Amino acid sequence: MGLTFTCEHCGESIHGVAAVHNGKFVHHRCAKDYTRAKLIEKWEASGLLEGLTNTEGKINMANLLESEAKQFITE
Ligand SMILES: [Zn+2]
Repeated sequence: MGLTFTCEHCGESIHGVAAVHNGKFVHHRCAKDYTRAKLIEKWEASGLLEGLTNTEGKINMANLLESEAKQFITE
């Protein structure tokens, strides 16, 4: 009973612990992958991940860009 949510990451319904990211519900276990995928998606749209073929490379670059973007905003 009660409300059920669909995981934004894997598409399955969430029973138990859910995490919320930008107003979207994801499984607690999917939260990390979801965050990574969103980060890659965000920076891929900018074209700055071009040439990177593996996920690890992309996530590393996306994290770097993300921290630089934050510095840029706060400075
Ligand atoms: Zn999930």
